[in-house]
Amino acid sequence: MDYRSVLTTCPYCGCGCGMYLPVVNGRLGRPLPDRSHPLSQGRLCIKGYAAHEHVNSPDRLTRPLVRDGQGLRPATWDEALKLVASRLMGIRDEHGPDSLAFLCSAKCTNEENYLLQKLARACFGTNHIDHCARLCHAPTVAGLVVAFGSGAMTNSIPDLEEADCILLTGSNTSENHPLISTRLLRAKRNGARLIVVDPRGIHLTRFADIHARPRPGTDVAWINGLMHIILAEGWENREFIAARTEGIEALRAKVAEYPPERVEKITGIEPQQLREIARLYAGAERGSIVYAMGITQHTTGTDNVLALADLAMLTGHVGRRGTGVNPLRGQDNVQGACDMGGLPDVFPGYQPVADPEARVKFGKAWLEDGGDASAVRELPHEPGLTVVEMMSAAAEGRLKAMYVLAENPMLSDPDIHHVREALQALEFLVVQDIFLTETAELADVVLPGSSFAERDGTFTCTDRSVQRIRKAVETPGEARPDWQIIGQVASACGASGFEHGTPEAVFAEMARLTPIYGGISYDRLEREWLRWPCRSPDDRGTELLHVDRFSRGLGHFTPVDYRPPAEEPDEQYPFVLTTGRTMFHYHTGSMTRRSPSLDRELREGFVELNPLDARNLGIADGGRARIASRRGQIEITARLDPAAPPGVVFIPFHFAESAANALTHRSLDPVSKIPEFKVCAVSVEAG
Ligand code: SF4
Repeated sequence: MDYRSVLTTCPYCGCGCGMYLPVVNGRLGRPLPDRSHPLSQGRLCIKGYAAHEHVNSPDRLTRPLVRDGQGLRPATWDEALKLVASRLMGIRDEHGPDSLAFLCSAKCTNEENYLLQKLARACFGTNHIDHCARLCHAPTVAGLVVAFGSGAMTNSIPDLEEADCILLTGSNTSENHPLISTRLLRAKRNGARLIVVDPRGIHLTRFADIHARPRPGTDVAWINGLMHIILAEGWENREFIAARTEGIEALRAKVAEYPPERVEKITGIEPQQLREIARLYAGAERGSIVYAMGITQHTTGTDNVLALADLAMLTGHVGRRGTGVNPLRGQDNVQGACDMGGLPDVFPGYQPVADPEARVKFGKAWLEDGGDASAVRELPHEPGLTVVEMMSAAAEGRLKAMYVLAENPMLSDPDIHHVREALQALEFLVVQDIFLTETAELADVVLPGSSFAERDGTFTCTDRSVQRIRKAVETPGEARPDWQIIGQVASACGASGFEHGTPEAVFAEMARLTPIYGGISYDRLEREWLRWPCRSPDDRGTELLHVDRFSRGLGHFTPVDYRPPAEEPDEQYPFVLTTGRTMFHYHTGSMTRRSPSLDRELREGFVELNPLDARNLGIADGGRARIASRRGQIEITARLDPAAPPGVVFIPFHFAESAANALTHRSLDPVSKIPEFKVCAVSVEAG
């Protein structure tokens, strides 16, 4: 028997847990936790333990597919690559570079994301490049950059245990980041106060000192209300404000407009409870704010993040252990895909495409030193389209072709009827993935890629730790590593500068051009634990951001006003729908629904309803419900839960046959362009 064990990183959530993959006679076995791993410390959640199952699925794509009159048929790599290159280059030549768009992937490695955005910019000359970070934490990047100068988690995962007060909001941590949830519980066991502000009752509310339940979409109001009380009581940290920040007077004037009585009218939170939250958080020695998509997935997402950053600076809870503003990123490498420039306005390392110096630097590396990149003479300077904007542009005929790397907008994006129309309106759609997803079914060419266990590379988890993934088994059939496929597409297009040979060489090129990764190498990752920024070979990385000064110098207070959600309940659609994830499934379910043990735990979608609402509607627990919005309707099984707020329903978005995003709308946060997945108006009736 041939047995090996390969150390790697979990392919699911942003916790970045370490695991060993056993390989028996070339086949992947059940992962085992890495006891010495600094983040996961010998633990995995149920998804981690099942991470081998989707890899071994019989549904894996094993050959390229090409559409002809009969549908998708198997093709050779030579045929598929030539077709992709000729169609993409032809469309670019006929309609211009901005007739093409590219989606990077939070499921793919840093190296692959780096290569795809380089392909878009250097080979095709477009900044129309984005990925599903747009749908989860774009407001985090936009808001925290303005406030602090860096859009990432300020502290580390282990550091959360050092807080003596945790303000947890918009994060169902136990379901979505299970291993971070255990850190919060340990902090609680060590004596920390836990404040949960969330419309829904979640697992962690059982351990909370306070659970406040604002109406969905009213976050700016309650955060401004907290700051109103803190300033009125003199609980602010005057020394920190004077030494480390600017703009306090404008903030003071704005939050004066949010007395607790007004906040109660908007949010439903009683003044006494708001005051108690303010007292606990402001009075803490080390207060940590932890949040996720309940804060960001709003048309006010950036304002919500700015308000939380204001709150942290007002109380001096930044730049020390156990404090900070800590966004929990959803997918394994969503942090890395952003870091690698899988965004329409920045090169790798958040260097703006609008900055002439950055364009000269990348232009020299990619177009001059890197060789002739297929007729592109200079890199584009206008920021490109975001994910939802791409779909509108496709539906309107402005976008002619898309290259989708391991994303599934047919389930993940808002208003999926519109997404279908948009993708079908394209002249050419390429999807590179490991399964025939709902999006791949619409493609003209499908390129079979590799799972996390079949290639080398790096992931960057939610606390900026950069970790290796390592090849354990071969790709099935003719499937290929994704970094190789992107290089082969570039070669077929006649571009040079993509002949790296190994992911390590790709990483080295990226690190040379990306100061925050400049000191990281594969060699160091074998021996050291590194979080970016890590700027030189002797830099040991940065666990704690903004210690003596903020990345931008002074922290900047930005006053923000409450704005109601884009679509509020009315007579016809009297309920608020909020969408999200569950513990057993990952994103659009393409991997976890093909995992027998996870599928067994949760086989179908559900709508979570308050029992009183259900009784009024005549819907029993386990019965069917029909949910409709202005965009569409679905039928789904009802799950009655007293922790669900009256008038609010929750549906996870993993399930194609009861797709929550058939109901959601396309209204965007004006700054970050994130859609409002957390509030849309629906009707509910017995199915
Ligand atoms: Fe994987 Fe996240 Fe579970 Fe850790 S907590 S094992 S990273 S899914």
